Amino acid sequence: MGARVSESDADAVREIRKARADGLRPDAVLTVSEWADAHRKLPKKSSAEPGPWRTDRAPYLREIMDSFSSRSDVEEIVFMKAAQIGGTEVLLNALGYIIDHAPGPVILVWPTVDTAKRGSRQRVAPLTTDTPTIAEKIAPAKSRDAANTVLEKTFPGGHLVITGANSAVGLRSMPAQYALMDEIDGWPIDVDEEGSPIALVEVRQRTFARRKRLKISTPTIAGRSAIEAAHDRGDARRYFVPCPICGEFQELTFDRLVWTKLDLPPAAAVYECAACGDYIRNHQKTAMLAAGEWRATHPGRGAGKIRSYHLNALYAPVGWISWGEIAVEFVAAEKDPERLRVFINTVLGQVWTSKGEAPEWAGLYNRRDTYAIGSVPMGALVLTCGVDVQKDRLVYEVVGWGRGKRSWSIDAGEIPGDPANVERGPWGELEKLTARLFPHDAGIEMPIRLLAIDSGYETQHVHAWVRRPHSTQVIAVKGFDHGGAIIGSPAPVEITISGKKRKRGGRVWPVSTGIAKSEFYGFLRLEREAGKPDPAGYVRYPEYAEEWFRQITAEQLTATKTRRGYIKLEWSILPGRQNHALDCRVYARAAAALAGIDRMNDRDWDAREKFLGAGSTPAAAAARARAASTSPAPGSSAPASSAPTAASSPAPAPPLRPGLVPRPPPASSPSPAPGKPGRPTWVPPRPDWLKPR
Ligand SMILES: [Zn+2]
Repeated sequence: MGARVSESDADAVREIRKARADGLRPDAVLTVSEWADAHRKLPKKSSAEPGPWRTDRAPYLREIMDSFSSRSDVEEIVFMKAAQIGGTEVLLNALGYIIDHAPGPVILVWPTVDTAKRGSRQRVAPLTTDTPTIAEKIAPAKSRDAANTVLEKTFPGGHLVITGANSAVGLRSMPAQYALMDEIDGWPIDVDEEGSPIALVEVRQRTFARRKRLKISTPTIAGRSAIEAAHDRGDARRYFVPCPICGEFQELTFDRLVWTKLDLPPAAAVYECAACGDYIRNHQKTAMLAAGEWRATHPGRGAGKIRSYHLNALYAPVGWISWGEIAVEFVAAEKDPERLRVFINTVLGQVWTSKGEAPEWAGLYNRRDTYAIGSVPMGALVLTCGVDVQKDRLVYEVVGWGRGKRSWSIDAGEIPGDPANVERGPWGELEKLTARLFPHDAGIEMPIRLLAIDSGYETQHVHAWVRRPHSTQVIAVKGFDHGGAIIGSPAPVEITISGKKRKRGGRVWPVSTGIAKSEFYGFLRLEREAGKPDPAGYVRYPEYAEEWFRQITAEQLTATKTRRGYIKLEWSILPGRQNHALDCRVYARAAAALAGIDRMNDRDWDAREKFLGAGSTPAAAAARARAASTSPAPGSSAPASSAPTAASSPAPAPPLRPGLVPRPPPASSPSPAPGKPGRPTWVPPRPDWLKPR
């Protein structure tokens, strides 16, 4: 077992030769655990058991550490674990081993720069002072000594950078043969819009043939757990220990911990052997752990390069958390979902599956409708558009809204270009979108009634564009997690106009993204029944590419505990996903709220239907005929009171357009081209838009 199984003899021989050539003693090929047993001292201040390190105390750590040894071929070690079973000691022993024994550039990453500073002072500093062989190699910390600061330490043959996963600059600071990544489930999904911090670290290692990395974390929430994702790419090792009664090797699992059926209090819980059914007591664990071994449950996975380990707190050595304490903790947590989540994460070392999970994208993809992209089906009576602003493009969705908040996605896509580039950026194409008319099945052409664009990013350029006159009413919005309504009251914002700052130069409408997302996901879960009209809120999509459906389902609602212990519900993005399409829908929904769809009753919708000629009644047919011959009088029945007006614009804003234009005969239509209704040439070809980055 252990690193010895896969160690390459040839490598070992080379190492020994090299060591001899370097005039070093043959112990130059120590493993990490051998090194720690020989040299590591646990500090008095911060250790429960100060003094020399003994791997025998937590024998399950031996193989995990030794996978990091120079002579092991393993490149990535993943340790998904319960809290406080020695995970950070694995990391510190690996770090000590590097500094003392296998020097090279190493990066040590904690979730944030703040936690990195704290970790450096509380964990790394004692390592460099209390372990003599390391103290010799790292200069004592002096305020002006650049060779040893809180976040950088130099040692013979190597260099250590300590940083936070929230700092792209820190992660890019240097190439690293070794990467030690702690509590990766606490890392941001995206750092400074440069992507996953884990990926940024891995990129820094590319040039090193003998690179190694360690990923450690207590897992968090299903679907967004980075440690679980990393674990599942490896060979998923479990620690098998022999029953002291029958000798059968087995994994220790929480469901075999028993007390009730033996009329024991939880504090006296015992372990029921999976083989003989006899009961094992906590104090018998020491011998079991010593005789235990890691077994891969997915042997081929990771191709011998990625070893992943999972360990729950049932394995904690005698003297640490006991089986009885685990049972007591469970009984206390059982009825409180938040405490139960903490128990499952920190004691069982498992991910927590919460409510509010994103709907499955594939199901939505498979139920797509056949109506043409860019055309408006009969039930859709108001068009709005949501625009998400990215650093290299705009993403948009045009949505048709009908009775009971039923909706149809009419068109969606990306407009490439840097929004900061006023001349050649995406703004000209967005302008064309505001002027675009969408063919309605009732035989008319429909403009977008209200377009909402995200002003949270590139704020100045967005406001500059919003201020200009447009053929469609346009508003700047900004998403907030909280708020009582989908869209709130506009607030003045300071913007710069021709180099001058104007305190109330623009207006931004706050959008409660949480409410909008919860509503949308509720709607996406609705099922259509055969022979019945769509349920209220039902969402239809034309045949968009898969990526759009991945993006609209890219987030989930998760429960987290605040510092004061309250439960906080937060929307968070799933790993590896982008959420721009979801943002577009949220903004389009906010625009629809402002356009009044939430307040429209049946009579309002009837009137609008007649006006558009979109109903099946004789009145609707007559309206259709009228619409085909003359321009309609302005003033639909939709409430106009909510019409946003850009009060601060130099020119008075035009009133909301009634949303109806007679459809020109096809012959006189300059665009769109025949056979491709409503698809101007500037829209990128369908298969190419929205590639995952
Ligand atoms: Zn047994």
